[in-house]
Amino acid sequence: MSAPSDEGLPSRPKEEAGEEKGPSKSALKKAQKDREKAEKLAKRLALEEEQRMKAEASDTAKHLYGPLSGQSARPVKKFCKSLQDLESVAEDEEVTVQARIYNARAQGAKLAFLVLREQEHTIQVVVAEGGAHGISRQMIKYCAGVNTESFVRVTGLVKAPKDPVHSTSLSNQELHLESLYVVSPAEEQLPLQVKDCIKPPSTREEGEGEADTNDPNATLKTRLDNKILATRAPATNAIFQLQSEICTIYSQYMLSHGFTMIQPSYLAGAATEGGSGVFEVTYFERKAYLTQSPQFFKQMAIAGDIGPVFSIGPVFRAENSNTKRHLTEFTGLDYEMPIQEHYHEVLSFGEDLMLHLIRQLLSRPKSKHLTSIIRDAGYPDAGNFQVPPEGTKATRITFQEAKTLLKDSGFDIGTDPHADIDTAQEKALGDLIKQKYNTDFFTIDQYPLSLRPFYTHPSPSNPELSNSYDFFMRGQEIMSGAQRIHELPMLKEMMKAKGVNPVDPGFKDYEEAFRYGCPMHGGGGLGLNRILQFFLGLNNIREATLFPRDPVRLGP
Ligand code: ATP
Repeated sequence: MSAPSDEGLPSRPKEEAGEEKGPSKSALKKAQKDREKAEKLAKRLALEEEQRMKAEASDTAKHLYGPLSGQSARPVKKFCKSLQDLESVAEDEEVTVQARIYNARAQGAKLAFLVLREQEHTIQVVVAEGGAHGISRQMIKYCAGVNTESFVRVTGLVKAPKDPVHSTSLSNQELHLESLYVVSPAEEQLPLQVKDCIKPPSTREEGEGEADTNDPNATLKTRLDNKILATRAPATNAIFQLQSEICTIYSQYMLSHGFTMIQPSYLAGAATEGGSGVFEVTYFERKAYLTQSPQFFKQMAIAGDIGPVFSIGPVFRAENSNTKRHLTEFTGLDYEMPIQEHYHEVLSFGEDLMLHLIRQLLSRPKSKHLTSIIRDAGYPDAGNFQVPPEGTKATRITFQEAKTLLKDSGFDIGTDPHADIDTAQEKALGDLIKQKYNTDFFTIDQYPLSLRPFYTHPSPSNPELSNSYDFFMRGQEIMSGAQRIHELPMLKEMMKAKGVNPVDPGFKDYEEAFRYGCPMHGGGGLGLNRILQFFLGLNNIREATLFPRDPVRLGP
C-alpha cells in the first residue's frame, strides 16, 4: 500500500518526486550557454535603446516628423487643398499638402525621395539633411520608412527640379521637405498594390478565350475584393468621377427642361412583377420587396400632377444573371413626362437627352480630362464615341427595320416577326449602324407588344406593336421606355391578356393612379452603370460600379 499523499492529493510519480537521476553534464552546459546568449542579447538591446534615446534626445528635428496625433505640428502657412493647386504656387513658397505616400526610398543616410499621390496627381518630395530647419538623419530614415499608401501631411518649399521629373505628373515641380507628419499610417502588407491597378484589369482568371495569363495587372476580382485600394488608382478613380459627371449632366438637363426630381420609395408592400426577380425583405411582422424599378411611383407622381418627373436611385433585380452587363443592384436614371399629342415627344426627348449627355461628356473640360486619364491608362475606347454632329437628330429605326438590317447581313432572324433580337444580334446591329450612320448611339422604336410589360401602350395603328423603344450604346441596351397605358379599362384588359392578376395587392395602389384621371404619359429608365460602361468601352459593368452587387458578390 502506498503512503497517504499530502492533503489527500494523489501521490506524485516517483520521477517527479525527485528520485530520478540529476541532469546530464551536457544538458547543464547547454543551459549555461543559453543563459549567456540571452544575457548578451539583452545587453545589446539595452545598448541599442540607449543609443536610440540618445539619438532622439539629440535629434534637433524630432518636432518635424512623426505621427500627427499627439504631435504639436508646425503651424500651416499655406494649405493646398489639392496637389494640382501647387501648379499655381510660386517657387520657394512654403506650402502644406495632404496626400498619400506612393513611393519612398532612401538614397544613403543624407537623402531620401518620396512621391506623393492624390488621385491622378503625383509630385516628388526631396528630403535632404540640413537645410533651414535642420533635417536630421533620423528624420530622413523615418520619412523613407513610411509605409506606402499612408496618408501624410507634408510641408515643404516648392522648387523647380534641375530636370523635369518624368515619373510624376507635376514634373516641373518638387517639394523640398520641411516637415512630414503621418495622419494615418497604412499597414506594411497591402493585399493589393495600387501600382497593379494602374492599367485595366487582367483577364487571366476569367477563363475565357481572351485570358492573358502573362498579364501582371490585378484581376477585376482582386480589385473588387480590395475596393478601397483599387479606387485609388487614377483611372478607376476617374471612372467614378465621370459617373458623377453623368448624374450632374442628366440632372441639369432634366431640371432645365422643367422636370421635378422625385424620390420614389425603394420598398414595396407587394411583388409587382409576380415575385420572380424580386428581393424579399423582412418588414417588421410582414414581408416587403425591393423595387425592380421606380416605374409605378413615377406614373403615380404624374397622376398626382407633379408634372414631368425624374429620379436617380437604386434598382434591384434578383436575377441570377452572371454576365458582364448585369448586376443585382444598379442605378436607374428614370424619367416620366406627360404627352401632349404623340408618344414620339417622349422618345425624341430621350434621344435629345442622350445626345446632349454624350456630347457634354465629350466636350466638358472636366469630363474630357477624366476620360483622357482613363484612355491613357489603357482603355482605348474611352473618349472614342461617335454621335451625330450638333443640330442633328439621333439615328432611329423601327424594330422591323432592325430585323431587316440583320437579315440582309446574313443573320438568321427566324420567321416569327415578333421574336426578340438577342444580345449578339443587338451587338451586330450596333456595328451595322455604325458602318451605315457613323454613330455609336441609336434607338429602336415600335417593339412588338408581346415583348413589353403589361403597362405598355399598344400602337394605335397596329395593335400587335407597341409605342415602346430601347436605346443602345455600342450595340448594347442602355434604356427601355414607352408610352404607358393611362386608361383603367385598357390597363385591366392588358393585365388580363398578360396574365397579371389585377386584384394582386401590388397593383391596388397603382390602379388608383388611373381611377381619378391621368394625363397621357410616357418615359424611360436608363441604366447609369451601363451608360458609363459603354461610353468608356469597359469590358465589365463591375468596373463602372463602385460597390457592385451580383449573384455572388455582396461586399465590400
Ligand atoms: P436586359 O435585357 O439587358 O437584361 P432589361 O430589358 O431587363 O435589360 P429594363 O428592365 O428594360 O432592362 O431596364 C432598363 C435599363 O436598366 C436597361 O436598359 C439597362 O440599362 C438597365 N438594366 C436593366 N437590368 C440591369 C441589370 N441587371 N444590371 C444593370 N443594368 C440593368
